[in-house]
Formats: sequence, C-alpha cells, structure tokens
Amino acid sequence: MNTEEKLRLRARHLSSALSLSYDEPLDIVRGEGAYLIDVEGRRYLDLVNNVCHVGHCHPHVVEAGARQMAVLNTNTRYVHANLVRYAERLAGTFPDPLEVCFFVCSGSEANDLALRLARAATGGRAVLVLDGAYHGALSALIDLSPYKYDGAGGAGRPAHVLQAPAPDTYRAPETARDDPGAYFAERLGATLLTLPAGERLAAFFAESLMGCGGQIEPPPGYLRAAYEHARAAGGVCVADEVQVGFGRVGSHMWGFERHDVVPDIVTLGKPIGNGHPLAAVVTTRAIADAFANGMEYFNTFGGNPVSCAIGMAVLDVIEDERLQEHAARVGARTLADLRALQAIHPLIGDVRGAGLFLGVELVRDRRTLAPAVDEAHAVCERLKSRGILISTDGPLHNVLKIKPPLVVSAEDLARFVYELDEALKTLGTRRED
Ligand code: PMP
Repeated sequence: MNTEEKLRLRARHLSSALSLSYDEPLDIVRGEGAYLIDVEGRRYLDLVNNVCHVGHCHPHVVEAGARQMAVLNTNTRYVHANLVRYAERLAGTFPDPLEVCFFVCSGSEANDLALRLARAATGGRAVLVLDGAYHGALSALIDLSPYKYDGAGGAGRPAHVLQAPAPDTYRAPETARDDPGAYFAERLGATLLTLPAGERLAAFFAESLMGCGGQIEPPPGYLRAAYEHARAAGGVCVADEVQVGFGRVGSHMWGFERHDVVPDIVTLGKPIGNGHPLAAVVTTRAIADAFANGMEYFNTFGGNPVSCAIGMAVLDVIEDERLQEHAARVGARTLADLRALQAIHPLIGDVRGAGLFLGVELVRDRRTLAPAVDEAHAVCERLKSRGILISTDGPLHNVLKIKPPLVVSAEDLARFVYELDEALKTLGTRRED
C-alpha cells in the first residue's frame, strides 16, 4: 500500500479529530535507537519521542515482552512474580513514604485513578491545576486540562477546577523578577482562596516540568511553597511525571526531586513501557488504604505479566546503559549550545529545560514577546527536510520541544544544533553581533 492509499483509508475510516504531523505526513515503518525510518528508507533523527525512552525497539525490551507473551498473559487476580517484583523495583526508585503501586494502561488512566485516590483520601472534589496544563484525554481529565478546555473546541474551565498561573519566569511580570518562585506561589495561594462555597480541595495536580504547557520549569522554591498551600487547603499533591519521569531530567530519576518535595501521589506513563501501553500510580499506604473502601479496583490489562516484564526491562536498560547520567551530560551540552544560538538569533527568546527535556521559545520581538508561531512551524518543517524531527507546543504554539529517546548521541544532538542554526539563518532573522 503506498502512502496515498494509506491516507485515503485513514480519511475514510479514522476520525478527523486525529492529527498528522508535518505539511507532508511521514510514512514511518521502522524504529531503531533514536531513529525513525520511513517507507523509502530515509532515516530521521527523532527528537520528539519521549515514549521510546531507551530507544525504539530496544532488543532487551522486545525480548522481555516476547518471551513473557509466549508463556502467559493474564491479570492481577492471580499471584505472579512479575507483578510484585516490578512493584518492588519501581517503588524502590521513590522516596518514602511512596510505596504502593497501581498499574494501568495510559497516562490518562493513571491521572484519573490519582483523582479518585485524592478524592477518597480527602473527601474533597475540587482540583487546582496550572495554566496550560495537560493531564489526559478522559472526560475527568479534559476538565483538569486548560490546554484542552481553553483551546479549540473546549468548553472552558469547570466550576470545580481552580487554575493558577503557570510559573513561567520568561513571561513573568517585572514585579516577579526578584523571586519568581515566591511570586507564583503567592498567586497560587490567592487562587486557592477562590474555592467556591461548598467545595473542598481534593488535589493539586502539576507536572514538575510542564510539557504541553511549553517546557516550563518551576523556579526555585515554587513547588515547595505550592505544595504547602495546597496541603494547607486540605488537598493532596499529585506529581504528573508522565512526560518527564524515568531519568529524563538528568540530575534525578523524577522531576519532583529537583524541587525538594515529596508528592502524595505520582503518576507515570509514556516512557515506562518504552511504547508498550503501560502506566502507573505510586502513592502512600495511607492514601491507598483510604481508597480501598470495599469497591474492587480491577484493570483488565493493567499489571499483566507481559507489561510488568516490559516495565522491568525498561528499568534494566536505564540502569545498565546509565541513561540518566547520559541525559544529564548531553542535555547540559545541548542547553549550552542552544544558549549560544540564542545569543546570535534574536528570534530565540528563551532556552530552558533540564536533561533531555528542553524548550526553545521563539519570539518576533524580545520586548513584546510576540510569539513567532509561523517561524516555529517553518523551523520544524525545515529540520524535517534535513532529517530531524522536533515538535512545537505551549499555549502560544511557539516553543520548540526537544525530548528524544535518552539513547540519542552527543553527535546527533550537535547535528541538530547545527541544523537549527541553519534553519534560523534561512528565516532571514537578523544576527546580532
Ligand atoms: N499527563 C501528561 C503530562 C501528558 O503529557 C500526557 C500525554 N501527553 C498525559 C498525562 C496523558 O497520557 P496518555 O496519552 O498516555 O493517556
């Protein structure tokens, strides 16, 4: 079947609510390490896929899944070593008192379960989220995602949801410059005071480094103070690590650890199964017990022996190949290279992120910060023509996102920086001396 036929069938049998990347969509047939290979054998450096964390089709992960699939796949209603071994290993990567794991099949399911846990533990219903946040595609999570409810087709913020400003230091007002952490925490505290009468706070949901929100890194002190506010208001703190977890931030296994906080509930997804539909919620014994009110929690696929074998294999590779350290090293180098480009291309307003979760915000004017949306799109298209895939995101659609499989090489990242420089030159932006 050629690409045109595939597109024709797609148009006929799939929903137009699904999107395709790029002006000319890619027809990808194979993945290997940090590369995707199209139907014509063309290789693309994949700087988008934070799901295939240890590299596309990593042989150790493939083998673990295939081997278990050939023996048994059932559910959590039977005793199985894979389930308990994996739970023990995963819990072992978290600080106390996070020790109870639930296994589910997607980041959305993980956040939905986190919401249920939070409500069971607190008796509250209301949730505090950050501007621009995305927490998942289920009905209850569209309600918690300004990225969706404030976007095209969205119905706006529901009454039980409070929305605090994203801790975006780049776009912060002048008055926030001295101590942006304190400024944004205070704004969050003020938001909590708007809780409607009759509502009680169940949870504060936040990513430790916002992804869809535009690669926003909370300033020092912010998360700590935000957690204090949320807890003082009776809520529990949920760290959504679906995008940034598993060593991507380089310095730590989990993004929240960079901020010296311990959440009450952590949700995991995307990289956890290297592309296999696996996700998890990790919480305290007290919260897990509050949830166990007699109603069974059953998830047909969550925690099955194949998924657990794959999850363990992913942890093996992260450890054996020292991918967290690698992310720290090559990420720091790339961040420095991107900052050097920022010094010569006025279009680059901000460069931020940690490890291999980086963002480059493009602006038309460094004073007004007018978003360079068309330019961001053009850069992505130009890079694609050079065999490099990146994506754009953020509420203003002007942030280039770099979040490759962690196995990406320093050479490949250097090539990306070179090609980004070239792309920005072709856009004709003035170079400052
Ligand atoms: N949380 C965050 C922060 C996400 O970025 C996403 C997916 N982009 C989700 C949750 C939902 O995960 P999934 O698509 O696996 O349901």
